[in-house]
Amino acid sequence: MRKPAVLVVGQLPPKIMQALEDAYVLHRYWTFEDKKKGLAAVADSIRGIATTGHYGASREMIFALRNLEIISSFGVGTDAIDIPAATERGVPVTNTPDVLTDDVANTAVMMLLAVSRDLVQADRYVRAGKWVSDGNMPLTRAVRGKTVGIIGLGRIGADIARKLDVFGVTVVWHGPRPKPGVSYRYYEDVVQMAADADYLVVACPGGESTHHIVNADVLKALGPEGSLINISRGSCVDEDAVVAAMAAGTIGWAGLDVFANEPQVPAALIDSERTLLLPHVGSATEETRAAMGNLVIENLALHFAGKPLATQVNAL
Ligand code: NAP
Repeated sequence: MRKPAVLVVGQLPPKIMQALEDAYVLHRYWTFEDKKKGLAAVADSIRGIATTGHYGASREMIFALRNLEIISSFGVGTDAIDIPAATERGVPVTNTPDVLTDDVANTAVMMLLAVSRDLVQADRYVRAGKWVSDGNMPLTRAVRGKTVGIIGLGRIGADIARKLDVFGVTVVWHGPRPKPGVSYRYYEDVVQMAADADYLVVACPGGESTHHIVNADVLKALGPEGSLINISRGSCVDEDAVVAAMAAGTIGWAGLDVFANEPQVPAALIDSERTLLLPHVGSATEETRAAMGNLVIENLALHFAGKPLATQVNAL
């Protein structure tokens, strides 16, 4: 039987590329010199797209591939995929939820603790010989007794909350609607929650509804002793406002795993002693990335076997 043709939008980890190569005829979108012409040349044969939360799939791409049957994405965030276009075309979109929740939540908790204890600065302090030359480092801040406001109490947000329980903090949260059975205090208004919080953790999806949900007003409410932790998407935070707030001391600290224009990070954030900057590594462990890759492969295999998909995002 002829292997179905699959368009891979951006490079995936080597083991996943190999598994895809074994099962499908692969076309590597990122290697097309002229994207439009390259796409047109393979358009009729392509039956599946393998992509990531970062590379996504545009409306133009979805409509150019006349025989497209499935989009299988590596990552839980689908804001870079034009879901309405896929739905219009009757194309199911799958993602990789749950398998990454634990590591992403751990990254958020790790950033929160690291920011509160100036962990990275402390490491630099030792390496720079300052312990010897300047003596003990300035004191840092305890998390115990503080309030953590979580924006988006979904799979990752709820796991962050659960894990934070052992640190003696008060968890509060904001989302589009209250959830029955959740005991943490709910805030309808993000600014109000930021005003009451010492740490603001962003764990909602990207996309239009959350664009700049953390803006200058929210940062002002968080205040000079407050810390911002972003594990969601760069688009959820007004990055210029963060730069301005850090410079003016409007907020105290920031731990950021995601940025507006990755992999570019504003120089002011790099230069600041009060930021912890990670290169979008929330889910980046061997174990989790392998599980995510397996789910991308499983969804494609299920589709081409005519079986129900494991993790379909859009209702068709
Ligand atoms: P999820 O289970 O769908 O949770 C998202 C939560 O955000 C839901 O509870 C949802 O509320 C809430 N939400 C939706 N719109 C909102 C709004 N306008 N304001 C506030 N909250 C809103 O997704 P997840 O698996 O937890 O993943 C969350 C996001 O994390 C992903 O979309 C992705 O962008 C990001 N992520 C980042 C990394 C990384 O490496 N840094 C890795 C994985 C995921 P309802 O429950 O009421 O719908």
